[in-house]
Amino acid sequence: MGSPLRVLSLGAGVQSTTLLLLIAHGELPMIDAAIFADTGWEPEAVYRHLERLEHEIAEPAGIPLYRVSNADIRRDALDPQTRFAQMPLYVLGPDGSHGMLRRQCTDLYKITPIRRKVRELLGYPDTRRVPAGVYAEQLVGISLDESWRASRADYDVSYSRSRFPLLFLTGGTGRTARGWTRTDCQRYLSAHGYADTPRSSCRGCPYHSNAFWRTMRDDRPREWADAVEFDHLIRNGGARANANGHLLRGLAYLHRSRVPLDQAPIDRRTRTELRDAQGELFDALADQDNERGCSPFACRGDDHDSAAA
Ligand code: SF4
Repeated sequence: MGSPLRVLSLGAGVQSTTLLLLIAHGELPMIDAAIFADTGWEPEAVYRHLERLEHEIAEPAGIPLYRVSNADIRRDALDPQTRFAQMPLYVLGPDGSHGMLRRQCTDLYKITPIRRKVRELLGYPDTRRVPAGVYAEQLVGISLDESWRASRADYDVSYSRSRFPLLFLTGGTGRTARGWTRTDCQRYLSAHGYADTPRSSCRGCPYHSNAFWRTMRDDRPREWADAVEFDHLIRNGGARANANGHLLRGLAYLHRSRVPLDQAPIDRRTRTELRDAQGELFDALADQDNERGCSPFACRGDDHDSAAA
């Protein structure tokens, strides 16, 4: 049996971009492919970044970069004919109680299409059983400061096994200088002309922090208007559930304050922002640092700042 296929789960955020650069620069062993799962609703900056990665890094290094997609998450949410895998929307119950819908979107829109591509690359594109011992090593960008995610990134199946190269690199700034932190990644990206690596996540992800919403409102008015409109349209949950008579008990919102996005208190600074403002080494990147993108195999959304809605 030959050596396993090696693929990079390219979320196109800070950590996975770092991995791609390290591989292309020969600082990590070569891979057979990089796979980006497109939910169809990423910020324009992410698509631009991906283009750059493909033409400046992947192609010259001979790494095929595949864009895979299951569907368009925004369209699915609003189309009564289409199955919609729930986003983690905030819910205000009829009695004023607070709840949140269970997140199903990462699986359907990110993990499923990546798995499908992995099977195809292994030579088993359909539902045929992949023989024992045939598998891909899937490189996932988890940095030292979030190493606990490696145990939670428990998405292995027999034909796809996760690997976390950033946790084992030397020369980082962690206590033992083994393993790279997010800051190490940012330094590396800055040194190679990728300081502006954006956060990868759906435009209207409910996990966005206040800082992310503010930047969108102030710098990307078209995306902001799009998110505000979407927030308005999902007030009663997904269109298909409604069409099928499964009415949401309560009202759904994108912002954790559970008020319409264009009225939400996004100018309020969260605890995370205040902490980061107290002398982070990378002040210029502090705002980005508040953002935890939706990596397919290590969704960072659930550690959103619980402070101050
Ligand atoms: S970014 Fe948010 S909405 Fe999009 S797939 Fe991830 S968790 Fe779901």
